Amino acid sequence: MYYLIVIIKNAPSQGTAKVFESTFHKLAHASHFKQVGSSYWIKYINYIITYGPYGNDHDMNNGIVAVGEMWGYHMGYFLTLQHFGDENPIIHPVAMENFTPFSRPSNRDIKKRRCNPQLDINCNGNIIEMDGWIPVGIIHNLMDRSADIVRQGFTDNVSDYTLSQIFNALQSDVQSLQAFRNRLLSNNGNRQQAQVKKLFEAYYYN
Ligand SMILES: [Zn+2]
Repeated sequence: MYYLIVIIKNAPSQGTAKVFESTFHKLAHASHFKQVGSSYWIKYINYIITYGPYGNDHDMNNGIVAVGEMWGYHMGYFLTLQHFGDENPIIHPVAMENFTPFSRPSNRDIKKRRCNPQLDINCNGNIIEMDGWIPVGIIHNLMDRSADIVRQGFTDNVSDYTLSQIFNALQSDVQSLQAFRNRLLSNNGNRQQAQVKKLFEAYYYN
């Protein structure tokens, strides 16, 4: 029997919202672990031990990390926005949309850019943009209804996938973004298939 021990080690000096964001992120991993089981998680742990978080995307088992951190970061930020509202000091809602996918191979796993309160009176220093090969923005794109440009030539025309549909697709044999895409489609009657494929292509997961 394996147990996942979640260690929350954020110092209170980081602020309540940061502690919550980090806790939401870790509990998202815990829910994923509970669904996929320990043999999956051993690969995840071995990857991080071997390459460090989050390695280069061409390392073995990078698909597990891409899937797992996509879920972890999305839930961390999504729940922070739900709980603390749009003015929280961690993440601005535009950051979920302002995600620029990076083509692989790349060691840009996930990068965040914060606004500067000295330059923008409306800014409290939270994250307003992200980029990287870990596709943190893709869950937002699956769920939202706005048809924004993900990158040149790629518009997000997918809408109204739900968090539970997304979570249900994170099964133990889903160890890459492509497998996640295929499971999400097959679980849901191939809903918006062409648009979903195009969205994953926008994130360089063809
Ligand atoms: Zn994580």
